[in-house]
Amino acid sequence: MKDFTVKTAIDFELPPVFRGRHLIDGTWTESVETFERVSPSHGKVVSVSARGGEPETNAAVSAARRAFDAGVWSRLSGKERATVLLKVADLIEANVERIALFETLESGKPISQSRGEVGGAGDLWRYAASLARTSQGDSHNTLGEDMLGVVIKEPIGVVSIITPWNFPFWILSQKLPFALAAGCTVVVKPSEMTPSTTVMMGELLLEAGLPAGVCNIVLGYGQPVGSLMSSHPDVDMVTFTGSTGVGKLITEASATTLKKVALELGGKNPQVIFPDADLESAADAVTFGVYFNVGQCCNSSSRIIVHEDIAEQFVARVVELSRHVKFGDPLDPDTQVGAIVTPEHNAKIDGYVKGAVAEGAKVEIGGETLSVSGLGTQFYQPTVITNVTSDMAIARDEVFGPVLSVLTFRTLEEALALTNDSDFGLSAGVWSENIHNCLEFARRAQAGTVWTNTWMDGYPELAFGGVKQSGQGREIGSYGFEEFLEVKSLVMRVGRSRAPWVQTGE
Ligand code: NAD
Repeated sequence: MKDFTVKTAIDFELPPVFRGRHLIDGTWTESVETFERVSPSHGKVVSVSARGGEPETNAAVSAARRAFDAGVWSRLSGKERATVLLKVADLIEANVERIALFETLESGKPISQSRGEVGGAGDLWRYAASLARTSQGDSHNTLGEDMLGVVIKEPIGVVSIITPWNFPFWILSQKLPFALAAGCTVVVKPSEMTPSTTVMMGELLLEAGLPAGVCNIVLGYGQPVGSLMSSHPDVDMVTFTGSTGVGKLITEASATTLKKVALELGGKNPQVIFPDADLESAADAVTFGVYFNVGQCCNSSSRIIVHEDIAEQFVARVVELSRHVKFGDPLDPDTQVGAIVTPEHNAKIDGYVKGAVAEGAKVEIGGETLSVSGLGTQFYQPTVITNVTSDMAIARDEVFGPVLSVLTFRTLEEALALTNDSDFGLSAGVWSENIHNCLEFARRAQAGTVWTNTWMDGYPELAFGGVKQSGQGREIGSYGFEEFLEVKSLVMRVGRSRAPWVQTGE
């Protein structure tokens, strides 16, 4: 029996190295220093970017502040803002191939997935455009004959957007169009590992006619760029997606000015499988849930909690399916799972697996670096681990690799206890044909999203975010849009009937 399905290197000429520059006040700007990105799958330099520091960050924040205060974007009508966002959506869709190629070269994800994410991002921009015309508040006509109250919504101001490497273009599109729809101006910092497609987004924004200074991009590292974007007094809000550790640093940095912070952080997301479930669909969803984006996904379903009666047969099916998932060259359109982001991260994943084995866990399949002919070893085998207990690091930490931990349960209460025994609370899933199991689980699972009889489906309309150490605030949907709005009450006297507070006796 074959062990894995490996897609070896295809014949493909890499494009010229992409040169990334900052976008500050509508102008493409260089820095003296630069940094390189080596493609995780091909081991070659694919981009060289200007490396920003404090001067570039300060200049970008000043440009965003000036643009916001001048009202060149914040005081446009919703219709005018929507028109620009819709143009950006068209341009994204016209440039899918170019953007997707660099998304794949820098992140290591399969080209078919990059095409889907970039094309899908266009839809996020269209949805955000529709919201630009809906930022209405409410009115109060029952406060008394001499009083009228109106609650309006205003853009919150200058927003720092800091993004990770695992879904660079998609996550940018979960934030940027919603901030722009609200009328905010922004400073964006992509991950130092995946800067190029954010620069490409900047090119499209200029082409769509976004005024100078409304969206500024600074390339570089967390220190000093991200850190200054989080503490700068001229920034009103930070929206961050990344690790829980960095989320805590951002919260600390923002505390001196008490700016609003929205955080999308890590997860340790379980799927609970009852014996009465459609087990074939559940096994397929578990396989997808753990290997999608090579497990480097906040929504990775890195642990399953499966009923004791079916555990052995269910694990056997997931192991069998794991052998058929196509791992390998991300540029092959047929590949389903690509490379690990860095050699260091590959070693970290392997360390979790070896640590679990040392603690008594059993590797059912995988557990080693995967060698892909023509591309090297920055890949990891599809891995399923049993005999896992809830106190092991592999069951508690975000491994961020193609590694599934299997736990078992007997009752719904036990399944819920295991689900909620986590510092994280991003997403959870339940598989059962019994509606009562599903509803009770959905109500009591501590998570921002609960899927029943499905996994990882998402829509621009549906809010996304986490509880506990998975984050705060919500992204996308109307709730995500609201995060970028401030509420102001207008209290208006009608007539001159108010009795004076000071009684002069005159
Ligand atoms: P990371 O936290 O290392 O980096 C994210 C971004 O923060 C990068 O741009 C980085 O340069 C910047 N940064 C680093 N130090 C900083 C600092 N001190 N101040 C400000 N910015 C700083 O995360 P990553 O490794 O790029 O991404 C993986 C993590 O992201 C995982 O934990 C994953 O779960 C999480 N994630 C969460 C979601 C979600 O929606 N909940 C989505 C995708 C990824």
